[in-house]
Amino acid sequence: MMTAAQIRQSFLDFFQEKQHAIVPSASLMPQSPGLLFTNAGMNQFVPYFLGVWTPPWNPARAADTQKCIRAGGKHNDLEDVGYDTYHHTFFEMLGNWSFGDYFKTEAIDWAWELIVERWGFPANRLYATVYAPDKSKGDPGEFDQEAWDCWAKHFRSKGLNPDIHIVDGNVKDNFWMMGETGPCGPCSELHVDLTPEGATQGSLVNQSSDQCIEIWNLVFIQYNAESDGTFRNLPARHIDTGMGFERVASMIQGTNGFTDFSKRISNYATDVFAPLFTKLEQLSGRTYADIYPQGGAKTIGDNEQQLREAIAFRVIADHIRTLSFSIADGILPGNNGRNYVLRRILRRAVRYGRQLGLMKPFLAELVDTLVEQMSPVFPELAARSQSIKDTLHREETSFNETLDRGLDLFDAEAAAQGKISGDFAFKLYDTFGFPIDLTALLAEERKLAIDTDRFEQLMEEQRERARAARKSQIVRALDLKTDAVTEFVGAEQDECESPVLEIHEQ
Ligand code: ATP
Ligand code: MG
Ligand code: MG
Ligand code: MG
Repeated sequence: MMTAAQIRQSFLDFFQEKQHAIVPSASLMPQSPGLLFTNAGMNQFVPYFLGVWTPPWNPARAADTQKCIRAGGKHNDLEDVGYDTYHHTFFEMLGNWSFGDYFKTEAIDWAWELIVERWGFPANRLYATVYAPDKSKGDPGEFDQEAWDCWAKHFRSKGLNPDIHIVDGNVKDNFWMMGETGPCGPCSELHVDLTPEGATQGSLVNQSSDQCIEIWNLVFIQYNAESDGTFRNLPARHIDTGMGFERVASMIQGTNGFTDFSKRISNYATDVFAPLFTKLEQLSGRTYADIYPQGGAKTIGDNEQQLREAIAFRVIADHIRTLSFSIADGILPGNNGRNYVLRRILRRAVRYGRQLGLMKPFLAELVDTLVEQMSPVFPELAARSQSIKDTLHREETSFNETLDRGLDLFDAEAAAQGKISGDFAFKLYDTFGFPIDLTALLAEERKLAIDTDRFEQLMEEQRERARAARKSQIVRALDLKTDAVTEFVGAEQDECESPVLEIHEQ
């Protein structure tokens, strides 16, 4: 059975054989305005799609594994982490691109060839989605007959009924956008039925079920979403694909090379996470169990200490990846925008550490494990490992102090009031740096009511003040009519400010 490292390499080898240039991952610090973090493989290629840059590759094709973070903005998976089996804040997105070169048919043919012929995914467990706009709602574009026909050819070749294995998708799932603006288009995705029987007939596709998980998105880039909400045709049509590396690893490894579908499939049960769990077990003296809440529940019962710890293991393992890779790319914990998101993630990790009895700074002690595992592919981790450790240690030490004081205050308030008022939650946030999700977590553990409406009201007032101060600085989105080169480069400097609005508005 393939290791995760072999799976990654096998993806790159496959597309190299198809004449793609293998390029390095871009930094997690996004180049496009309006993004908190790099959130998809296509981010670094935006200027090629827009026709601003000319691709240096002949043929104009590239493939890579891209570091992605989805913890804010349009794509935000933070709250799912630890509770489900397949959403991380940090993950690798494997991708292949055509810049005005090949289009839909080749993209779909090669996706099928890699997944079914090379990797051996059972075709009867695959479901493809195609874009079916609801014209009464004003959805852009047309039904994607070309994609439907192409998938149909492949399903029929395996004796499968395309009417069952191809599912219509709405604008939310089958029209991909990086953010509110930028290159975008209809997409077609592959989903895998992971039930023991494998006979769902597509009923679980796009239902947020861990029994049927999306692995690969093929985007047919043909528009640019403008800041005024319209879609402008791009000068050429492009292919942009993104496949969840950890998800593929979970399916290949979790089924023992597709021979056994009786067990639950999880990204956390792969060799991507095993070294981190082993290290965390050593540090905490606890044992990781690959168990999950029933039916996607987000709350944990009083007698479910083992589940609580399992979630803590996963959150910490996820967050240490996000933190280390971000710091390596020069994104440090701080007070604004993406830096605040990172600080919040660090504080969550520290708080979850306490579930495992980790009272002293521990995050830095996980770094060597991660570096050893990942630096062959991402050498920046090894190059910056000392600075990653120093940053984590410093942040964690200072938060531990406020955490202790804040916890004391929290307990005093809980004893005196029997509930958590919005004003008190806001004070914890403003004075002690307690993100609201942390306060909510503490309240939930103690079965205390929390007035999040009042908290939100106070946040909104604070935001309003910030907004007034920042009004003049909001960055305009990319606009092809103007001098796009200047805008693309020039916007880089300013855009850090605008995502503040974005995260506060989640
Ligand atoms: P989902 O519907 O599962 O949230 P998505 O539709 O938001 O995924 P895309 O934007 O289409 O994801 O990204 C391309 C691929 O990246 C997905 O098909 C999936 O395999 C992977 N992926 C997306 N989000 C995550 C995540 N948070 N953690 C791990 N892999 C992810
Ligand atoms: Mg998603
Ligand atoms: Mg999806
Ligand atoms: Mg998708």
